[in-house]
Amino acid sequence: SSSSSSPAPAPADRLLGGLLSPGFDEASCLSRYEASRRWKPSPFPVSPYLVERLRRYEANHRRCGPGTARYRDAIARLRSGDADGDRGECRYVVWLPIQGLGNRMLSLVSTFLYALLTGRVVLVHEPPEMEGLFCEPFPGTSWLLPPDFPYKDGFSAASNESYVNMLKNGVVRYDGSDGGVLPPYVYFHLEQIHLRLQNHTFCEEDHRVLDRFNWMVLRSDSYFAVALFLVPAYRAELERMFPAKGSVFHHLGRYLFHPGNRAWGIVERFYDGYLAGADERLGLQVRIVPQMAVPFDVMYEQILRCTREHGLLAQVTSTSEPAGGGGARPPPPTKVKAVLVVSLKREYYDKLHGVYYTNATANGEVVAVYQPSHDADQHTEARAHNERALAEIYLLSFSDAVVTTAWSTFGYVAHALAGLRPWQLAPLDWSKMRADVACARPPSVEPCLHSPPSLVCRARQDPDPAAHLPFLRHCEDVPAGLKLF
Ligand code: GDP
Repeated sequence: SSSSSSPAPAPADRLLGGLLSPGFDEASCLSRYEASRRWKPSPFPVSPYLVERLRRYEANHRRCGPGTARYRDAIARLRSGDADGDRGECRYVVWLPIQGLGNRMLSLVSTFLYALLTGRVVLVHEPPEMEGLFCEPFPGTSWLLPPDFPYKDGFSAASNESYVNMLKNGVVRYDGSDGGVLPPYVYFHLEQIHLRLQNHTFCEEDHRVLDRFNWMVLRSDSYFAVALFLVPAYRAELERMFPAKGSVFHHLGRYLFHPGNRAWGIVERFYDGYLAGADERLGLQVRIVPQMAVPFDVMYEQILRCTREHGLLAQVTSTSEPAGGGGARPPPPTKVKAVLVVSLKREYYDKLHGVYYTNATANGEVVAVYQPSHDADQHTEARAHNERALAEIYLLSFSDAVVTTAWSTFGYVAHALAGLRPWQLAPLDWSKMRADVACARPPSVEPCLHSPPSLVCRARQDPDPAAHLPFLRHCEDVPAGLKLF
């Protein structure tokens, strides 16, 4: 195959410019050092300072992680409610999953960035449907939350343990007049409510109070990494770690996420079997959500417009004969373009495949259309379904170009891992049953934060951060959303 004949990658590529630590056993997680062979080279250099911070984080996680005396001590203090306000030697943020895989990956990267900034250790609650989905990211320790951890269920915006409610109820106060006696942990609710995060979640004074808790439990569906850039206290560190701000998910996602061997097996078999031999790969992600079910014909037409207007797919002739056929001219060398259709629905693949199977292309290119799976509906509760979803995110990220669907966190993760600016199918104008512009090309590879926090704790009116911070933009697909640039 073409992959086995290509030269061995330089060690720097294998470790993604120093992002990855070399000290792992390879067989237990084949994707860790293999994924880099499939990605195009990263457009963003990794800053030496980020590498230094990651190694420091890993050392701290080994010191404080599950199985250590320090962890046992911290858990004992949590259980006994003995939170005397002392800053613990080890401090934790517990991540609880909600929503689909794309949302989970966005919120987990954000939680890790928060942990990096605040000296906390991230512990991941892995429900059965995520078992073995990802490999351990930190050498010599575990990021999995031990199963006997007591506070995993029942949290919502209404919980008394929620930071915003503690503030409202005077349990904690900005000026410290709560006497320094704190509950043993705080719940940080970062789930969007009508496309906003709660007020009092990303003002500097809130983060000073949050910092006093040794234990935090966090639940989020959002890419709140963007909101961390709104807290002035974090900005200097963020700038040192990410000289190119639009590379946060790209680097941290590649650092943290390594598909487990089952999901990676799917990736390798499909890539080697269908995609590796092509001259070019185009990823096409079509996400149809049940609550906004765009009719097939409308969406299919929009995909064709987008790929035609941007020269992404060869046009077909009305004949099934090859261009220039019948004459004595030798056929031109044919280029093969593989189109990877990723969707829960199978009809986009069916139609597109039929078109290129039946007709010749005007430029003689061979267009081969594939779809790895079509589960029909979202089944976040099923492990094998999530393994296919993760495999398909990675397959998409190995493309040379991607067309993705507006609003989809699944699509965001794929193009951000790839370091590709997608062609993003614009949201439909439902009154016209059409999108005026078929697809837009965002200036950044970053995911969008759909739900910016309210910032009225700082100013009387709610300021628009994109108007003041040069590295923030509103999103092409979600007008009120924010993304790093
Ligand atoms: P979003 O809803 O598009 O923002 O993405 P999420 O990943 O958060 O949730 C959608 C979930 O539906 C995914 O995690 C998968 O479980 C499933 N899903 C959606 N699209 C696809 C797809 O193209 N392929 C596969 N295998 N699963 C998908």
